[in-house]
Amino acid sequence: MLDKVLIANRGEIALRILRACKELGIKTVAVHSKIDRDLLHVRLADESICIGPNPSAQSYLNIPAIISAAELTDTSAIHPGYGFLAENADFAEQVERSGFTFIGPKAETIRLMGDKVSAIKAMKAAGVPTVPGSNGPVPTDPEECLRVANEIGFPVIVKAAAGGGGRGMRVVHNEGSLLKSISITQSEAGSYFGDSTVYMEKFLQNPRHVEVQVLADGQGNAVHLYDRDCSLQRRHQKVLEEAPAPMLDEASRQACLKSCVDACIKINYRGAGTFEFLYEDGHFYFIEMNTRVQVEHPVTEMVTGVDIVKEQLRIASGLPLSLKQEDIKLNGHAVEARINAEDSKTFMPCPGKVEYFHAPGGMGVRVDSHLYSGYSVPPTYDSMIAKIICHAPDRTAALKRLSGALDETFIDGIKTNIELQKELANDANFIAGGVNIHYLEKKLGL
Ligand code: ADP
Repeated sequence: MLDKVLIANRGEIALRILRACKELGIKTVAVHSKIDRDLLHVRLADESICIGPNPSAQSYLNIPAIISAAELTDTSAIHPGYGFLAENADFAEQVERSGFTFIGPKAETIRLMGDKVSAIKAMKAAGVPTVPGSNGPVPTDPEECLRVANEIGFPVIVKAAAGGGGRGMRVVHNEGSLLKSISITQSEAGSYFGDSTVYMEKFLQNPRHVEVQVLADGQGNAVHLYDRDCSLQRRHQKVLEEAPAPMLDEASRQACLKSCVDACIKINYRGAGTFEFLYEDGHFYFIEMNTRVQVEHPVTEMVTGVDIVKEQLRIASGLPLSLKQEDIKLNGHAVEARINAEDSKTFMPCPGKVEYFHAPGGMGVRVDSHLYSGYSVPPTYDSMIAKIICHAPDRTAALKRLSGALDETFIDGIKTNIELQKELANDANFIAGGVNIHYLEKKLGL
């Protein structure tokens, strides 16, 4: 087992990783920016090091500072969490080159999946269902572009190969605007991501977002931990997630789960990962793979009983996967509400001092949060301050439990989205199940 892990992240996920390390007897090193010295995990870690000023570029994205901190503390491995450097192949490479273990896939896998064109190609070859599309970058010849788009059928979506965070994509409804949209998306992609490659795929009108959690050891073993539904989104940001995904076509679901496991074996995947799909009319369409632990991993943990972060640590220690597919059983239903420090009308982040924090409790209620009374939410980083996860024997009971847990949650001093989450937990259409990715924005009148 790894001896000492440096946690290259902040907030709730840093605390989540620290907890898993403690349970496995692994020593922890917290690295933080100046303003973050009072974070809960920094206080609880065996050692802590300030790696720079507040802007992420100078601290949580500062690769030399993080690697120096690992050297100073004689760390054996680095856990990147999610966001920041978690899907940065150069970081993974530099960590390993400096003699530390990167807790995640090999740099080449991160690179393969970071480019959506190569990711889709690899997944298609492995038998994962993909969206009908250009099968590579858009052709350079305009006539050929129009032919490909017509073959896919309008509307199509033009997407940046290096895209992320919902940026660098454009929906095209007819031939007339295709070439112009392609060239605008190419120049946007060039300036956002430093890579102007774009591709085309069929634009699905009313899909759901369904994703599959996997674990693989890079030694030929892989399992899936079933699916999650994250269709409640605003501006491509997930707001409330659940596991398992309700009301799926069972035959396509089983085929999709199996294809994800087969793909992991085929690309010799190592670590935790998520295959993201759009789901429409009983069909799954792969859109991208996340090569890291995700924000919404707890809902899967609650319904499978598998501790995903501990598994990441075991895999990084070189241990073969201890789980067999037939041992992983679904038990009940789990939902997660992301609590953000934000204005309920404008959705603008609202940082500030938390005067008083009371977390909910009771059977089947889990709170993953770094918040405490007196903690100041800095303006510099992501506005998510807590995740409230409720587990119950069925979906209706889980949503009811979430509604009660939200009623019990008190965060004084800053604005939060708790009221919106209460509304969602009690929303008749959402309770009925199977709403699509546009539902929340429509409900909000956006
Ligand atoms: P990113 O990496 O920026 O998150 P994704 O490829 O995951 O990009 O797509 C983000 C979101 O954009 C999806 O969740 C979906 O809402 C929308 N989207 C992407 N591709 C399509 C498509 N082919 N049809 C319809 N919507 C799409």
